[in-house]
Amino acid sequence: MRLEIAPRRLRLRTPLQTAHGTVAERELLDVLILGADGVAGAGEAAPLPSYDGVTLDDVRAALEDCRPIVHDAEGLPRAMVLAECRRAAVLPQAVAAIDLALWDLEGRRADVPVWRLLGAHPGPDGAPAPVAVNALIGAEDRAGAAAEAARAAAAGFGCVKLKVGIGDDAGRVAAVRAAVGREVALRLDANGAWEPEEALAHVRALAPSGIELVEEPVHGVEELRAVAAEADVPVAMDETAVAPGALASGATPLVCLKLSRCGGIGGLIEAAETARAAGSEVYLASTLDGPLGIAGALHAAAVLRPARPCGLATLDAFAGLEVDPLLAVADGYMQVPAGPGLGVRA
Ligand SMILES: [Mg+2]
Repeated sequence: MRLEIAPRRLRLRTPLQTAHGTVAERELLDVLILGADGVAGAGEAAPLPSYDGVTLDDVRAALEDCRPIVHDAEGLPRAMVLAECRRAAVLPQAVAAIDLALWDLEGRRADVPVWRLLGAHPGPDGAPAPVAVNALIGAEDRAGAAAEAARAAAAGFGCVKLKVGIGDDAGRVAAVRAAVGREVALRLDANGAWEPEEALAHVRALAPSGIELVEEPVHGVEELRAVAAEADVPVAMDETAVAPGALASGATPLVCLKLSRCGGIGGLIEAAETARAAGSEVYLASTLDGPLGIAGALHAAAVLRPARPCGLATLDAFAGLEVDPLLAVADGYMQVPAGPGLGVRA
């Protein structure tokens, strides 16, 4: 089989400010695995240097390490090829790209969607249940955040998420709550901005606005455990989930999982099983992935059935990206693509 790698640059409509820096554009690597029969499977690598410290060049090098394995992979089981790539490519972002492409290829060859290959159960209409998603409010000022949140609520989103630890948190949180009413869940993400004592004080101050959960108020397994034990709001682990033993720690009642960081669909499902076995509830989110990463996460969600909205409604953040209509958000839900493989094209 042949491996093709091509870079792609996506610009955000408006730069997204987070506690780890401002993200203005995304560089992805599109990956294609071409079989001898002419069928191709597509995947993507979506490292986010300001967030995971992994650069595009790192990922490209890791993908090159997989090239000889993919070259000799015709006829071998997908799991075996992926296991070899996991050994050769140390970066989960690169493994994720190969994983997505191999699932896509297998699904297209068998003419079935990936969710079916994963063993997800369809509903009475023959499709898996749609996946509830949250809106991400990017505006840094009160009025802008309130307007964005009101638009999201009007569009049917049942959950909106706000970055905190970036200044005027209390003002923005109050403005957003006032704009959306009490029915819409309000989720916060501090991206590890705080120290434990500080986190508890901030969360205590923001809790009266009615907060669904706060993601990564602090970094570190024991730090998260300490904050989760005392905070007035449920705590979710996000960035810390990559730390050794973090997923199995049960340190937080919630864990946010990302396909790119978990090494693809298979890794994401394994991570969810580990976290759930430790007593944590899981939900999924993107690291501003491209369409293939979002589609892969939707297929995984069909099996995992997270009880809370997932952070997968992020494609709209890109300017000039013609999003596959199959990945559109309607009334706060995304459908799991029904076509063969991942069901969408990059
Ligand atoms: Mg987060």
